[in-house]
Amino acid sequence: MLNNWLLAMAQNAEAVRKAQEELDYVVGSDRLPTWEDENNLLRLGGYFRWNLGILATNDTNIIHPVQSESCSHHGIRPFVPMSIPFVLIVGAGPSGLLLALLLGKRGIPVRLLEAADSLDDRPRAAHYSPPAVYELRRAGIIEDMEAEGSFLPNGACWRKLNGEFLAAVSSPGAKDANQTPLTCLPLNKLNVVLQRQIDQLPHVEILHSHKVTALSQDDTKAWVTVETPNGLQTLEAQYIVGCDGANSKIRRSLFGAREFPGFTWDKQIVATNVYILSFEKYGFDWDSNFIIHPEHWYMAARISNDGLWRVSYGEVAGLSFDELKARQPAKFKAFLPGSPDPGDYRVANFSPYKVHQRLAKKMRVGRFLLAADAAHLCNPFGGLGLSGGIVDVGGLYDCLAGIYTGQADDSILDIYCKDPETALEESEFLKTCKKAETDDAVAASQRKGLEALQYDFTRHYRK
Ligand SMILES: Cc1cc2nc3c(=O)[nH]c(=O)nc-3n(C[C@H](O)[C@H](O)[C@H](O)COP(=O)(O)OP(=O)(O)OC[C@H]3O[C@@H](n4cnc5c(N)ncnc54)[C@H](O)[C@@H]3O)c2cc1C
Repeated sequence: MLNNWLLAMAQNAEAVRKAQEELDYVVGSDRLPTWEDENNLLRLGGYFRWNLGILATNDTNIIHPVQSESCSHHGIRPFVPMSIPFVLIVGAGPSGLLLALLLGKRGIPVRLLEAADSLDDRPRAAHYSPPAVYELRRAGIIEDMEAEGSFLPNGACWRKLNGEFLAAVSSPGAKDANQTPLTCLPLNKLNVVLQRQIDQLPHVEILHSHKVTALSQDDTKAWVTVETPNGLQTLEAQYIVGCDGANSKIRRSLFGAREFPGFTWDKQIVATNVYILSFEKYGFDWDSNFIIHPEHWYMAARISNDGLWRVSYGEVAGLSFDELKARQPAKFKAFLPGSPDPGDYRVANFSPYKVHQRLAKKMRVGRFLLAADAAHLCNPFGGLGLSGGIVDVGGLYDCLAGIYTGQADDSILDIYCKDPETALEESEFLKTCKKAETDDAVAASQRKGLEALQYDFTRHYRK
């Protein structure tokens, strides 16, 4: 056995490097490992178990005959015992992938279930605001994002339909080292970066074509029923996180199919990714442009360094996909600078969306948690949807890692799920309202803020 072990290690310097990395991280350089470290040395444990012939495959790239077919197989396929992971994540969209990466890098066993057989390629998020970039940095993926073409936009401006510049907000970009900058990278590329890093982790298992259909829990664990290529299975964990998007099965099972408080706008939007030269040609020198117009409102943002723009525009609600597609050339001609014809651009992606403002009743029910779109939806024009989701994931990671390492108890998750009962103690806004009830100065300054909504048209009366 020892010979096998030495042979396998001698054949794979990368595996040795990773094992050393784990030892340095968990044990440090000033002592030897003890049995107490065993639970935290999951990668090394995985190698040993593989060596004993228990496991399917490992970082040594030597494949054992009982390799599991449904496991992710991109790149190196590490493996650790995954009978009952600490966390089971439902949904391998960006939020689920990021949570798996953060937990996996900490050595926490995670299983990720994804209904689809591949990653999502629709035109959705591209801009990540500073609090989200902070979490992406914590996950250690900024360099990989840069390699995929991420960049720091110079800011956003507002224009009239004829392109006339109105006002702008500049982004600190890379100029100010003290600020975390807004960053741009189309979601499909972010997903690839996340997946690639996860594939290097021995504690994370991704199962594609695994669709969750039901759930349950007791005092000690939570479990889900899953449709898999091999039939129905029940999979369990200490905690289960619903990162399963706007139609979350986890949320619907916890609260009811129609229970997602909020509303849906009576407009819809169409998001396109377009290769087009019009913007540069007509002096659109801000990376994000919001065009104000009652009918042809739209947003145009540069989302790559090779001429790809995101053009998202408002459309009449109720039109079918085919009707929207047929109207697209006329819409572009009506509102894009230079009134381009279809031969002047190439639409790489086209996707209509409904626009919602909704928030789940709670982010936690016992051992089930919700994050990102499964928990809340907002108008995508502000670039806040996934940014908020990423912030959920960063917070949830700290809570779950704290519980796993014994630094926090389960009640920390009640803070993740803020209770409306304690809103008055925790919300700065509500606290100010309360103060304003008895303090005239606070009330006056609060009114001033609200007055910003008003506009005095008499200013334009003839003198
Ligand atoms: C046009 C547009 C532009 C946007 N731009 C921005 C932007 O610039 N910045 C920003 O921050 N946000 C933006 N957003 C929002 C952002 O795209 C979403 O918030 C984000 O994609 C949600 O990620 P998620 O991981 O929560 O869910 P999703 O990406 O929807 O992933 C959910 C995953 O769960 C899987 N799943 C679903 N049900 C099950 C089940 N029962 N079992 C197993 N798996 C399941 C799905 O297959 C999917 O892979 C935009 C949205 C749109 C529509």
